[in-house]
Amino acid sequence: MPETSARQTLINRYMWSVVALGGTLFLYSVHKLPYNQLDFRFLLLFLLTVAISSRIAIKVPRVNTTITVADTFVFLTFLLYGPEAAVVVAAADGLSSGLRISRRWMTILFNAGANASAIFTTGAIARLLFGIDLNIASQSYSLSLVILCVVAVAQYLFHTWLVAICLGLKTQRPLWQAWSSHYLWSSLTYFIGAFLAGGIVKLENTISFYAVLAPLPIISIIYFTYEKYLEDIRATAAQAERAERERAEAEHARAEAERLRAEQAEQHLEELNRYVEKLEGAGKELQESREHFRHAAFHDALTGLPNRSLFTEHLRLALGRTHQNDGYRFCVLFLDLDRFKNINDSLGHPCGDELLILVARRLETCVRQTDVVARFGGDEFAILLDAMQDPSDAIQVAEKVLQTIAAPFKLTNHEAITTASIGVALGSPNYKEAEDIVRDADTAMYRAKDIGKARYELFDTAMHTRAVTLLRLETDLRRAIENEELCVYYQPIVRLANGELHGFEALVRWHHPERGLVSPGDFISLAEETGLILPLGLNVLRQACRQLRKWQQRSLSDRDLIISVNLSGKQLAQPDLVERIEEVLQESQLKPWHLKLEVTETVVMENPEVAAVTLAKLRALGVLLSIDDFGTGYSSLSYLNRFPLDILKIDRSFISTMNQTDENLQIVKTIVTLAGNLGMQVIAEGVETEEQLNQLRLLKCQYAQGYLFSEPLDAVQADLFILNRLNSSPAAVLIPDAVSFMM
Ligand code: C2E
Ligand code: MG
Ligand code: MG
Repeated sequence: MPETSARQTLINRYMWSVVALGGTLFLYSVHKLPYNQLDFRFLLLFLLTVAISSRIAIKVPRVNTTITVADTFVFLTFLLYGPEAAVVVAAADGLSSGLRISRRWMTILFNAGANASAIFTTGAIARLLFGIDLNIASQSYSLSLVILCVVAVAQYLFHTWLVAICLGLKTQRPLWQAWSSHYLWSSLTYFIGAFLAGGIVKLENTISFYAVLAPLPIISIIYFTYEKYLEDIRATAAQAERAERERAEAEHARAEAERLRAEQAEQHLEELNRYVEKLEGAGKELQESREHFRHAAFHDALTGLPNRSLFTEHLRLALGRTHQNDGYRFCVLFLDLDRFKNINDSLGHPCGDELLILVARRLETCVRQTDVVARFGGDEFAILLDAMQDPSDAIQVAEKVLQTIAAPFKLTNHEAITTASIGVALGSPNYKEAEDIVRDADTAMYRAKDIGKARYELFDTAMHTRAVTLLRLETDLRRAIENEELCVYYQPIVRLANGELHGFEALVRWHHPERGLVSPGDFISLAEETGLILPLGLNVLRQACRQLRKWQQRSLSDRDLIISVNLSGKQLAQPDLVERIEEVLQESQLKPWHLKLEVTETVVMENPEVAAVTLAKLRALGVLLSIDDFGTGYSSLSYLNRFPLDILKIDRSFISTMNQTDENLQIVKTIVTLAGNLGMQVIAEGVETEEQLNQLRLLKCQYAQGYLFSEPLDAVQADLFILNRLNSSPAAVLIPDAVSFMM
């Protein structure tokens, strides 16, 4: 920057000028020194000034000034040996002190130059005013005082201005300001220096110079002690300052810590709030999932209806109310869809599920808000009718439910029709447990199913007794199977063309220890329900096959007898049925074509796909297949040819009424024709009269079975029947054509 360098040049020029002036004056002074006067004292003063110089400086507190010993020595030299000697000592002092305060030669030389110039000028002025001899020792005190004052003032002004100009240039301040701010008060230094020197010169008259200098060590000690004291004060002040600073720092740190703590506390509070919020959120979530689980635990997932647990809970409360309030009545409806399995099997489970949901919604429309509709599982539903006015209300609701359910259901891709069977149990204080009411409604529902489905049945005590009997029967049946109380009866089947014995139908009987002979009608359905039909059926099959094999082996004429064994729905659905039958055949060494298996239409139509597969396997095995009770069940003539059937058994109900109306006769005739068209043979069941027999023969029915020939017989009786059939068998008597044919 040009301005800065210009200023620096000016400063340099000024300083060098002072140096040059001081140097010139120094050289001039050296030249003009009064060498003859210079004694050992001068040397001592010179050395002391150089050695001690401004090292000993007393800073006057509160006033920006210092009294240096050097100043006193310079003034002393001035007064004793004249200004030239003072210039030499001042220059030496300037160099020596300059060397200590700076490393720049310019500054050091400037210091010496300024010192030399100032004292030279002071000397020149003093000489101008007071003559050549400035030694005040011989002067009066008042003149000495004036001289000292002039010297002090002159030295003060010249010296301070020489330095202040440089300072002003450096700091770019007005010179006056630079001078006044730094040196206005330093006049005192010069005065003290001058007057001390004056005092010493004056004292020299009375005591020697050395005596004056003698206390110097003491002064030094006092000075250094004072210095030490000052230092201590400074140290103390510094300490106090440090302490204050530390205190301030501590205070600051404390405040900072406080602030941080507050900040942290605030943060913690915020975090805590967030945490609390989160906790509350989690709590809410927990609450929600608890409610979700509670809901799931007490509701049916498919329909959203209350489940059995929740229903039973409501029922318990209702039962409690009947105990407290005499007039309070409630009712339970137990509902089961009829042939729901058919819908599931034929349309698929998704359709079945859809139907159940729709049924649930319809059931809800049949009841009041205060009632409870529940799903127990599968196609079972229950309704609790709360606080009924009259028991007939339950009948009305049951009828409404039957009607509502009977209307067609529109599923996504199908239309389905179903009916329901309902059991109704009226709540009363006589009930102890809620479950008992459900049990009774369930019993009534089974009764409704038994007597034809698509209806409701009211539970009564007789039903309960029956239910209890059934339960006992079940226990007994289990035991009976284990104890082999079950035996097989054989009912002969006769070939109508010649009256020959074709074979037997195996019909199970139970020799009950208390009840005597129990017919299958009383326990087959129970065995079906409980699954006991599987061991039972296998037992019958085994006994029958063994028995037939015995008869076949006994006589050549009996080797083509067949045995007909009934198969239940559960048996047909059994996966290893074919293997089991194969085993039995091997075991009894019976040819498969001597075994005929009877299945009812209903069993086949319950699950046509599975039935078709199993029947095909059985057919492949070589056994004969017969459709039992034809015409009573869910008849689908179109289905008939889908199954590999050999024989069709016309149900007893058609045979017994055959001769009563022409219509019934036509039915039998049609069935026989149909079977013939399908390549099947026909057996007429329940033939009891000769008339029936004749009619059947006219219709070209191949086989017959019925009391006319024989009731079902035990093994011994059947044995006799075989042996005596030509003589004593009613068949022989009643079929003269056949007998004549056989003879
Ligand atoms: P089903 O297979 O139709 O058997 C014929 C039923 O008609 C037998 O009844 C027989 O005693 C009866 N019956 C025969 N001729 C006449 C007659 O002229 N008049 C009258 N009123 N009845 C006659 P049962 O033995 O009581 O058997 C009833 C049903 O029980 C059988 O009907 C059959 O479906 C079932 N059953 C019998 N034994 C077994 C068995 O071992 N296993 C299976 N799964 N079911 C069996
Ligand atoms: Mg049968
Ligand atoms: Mg039958």
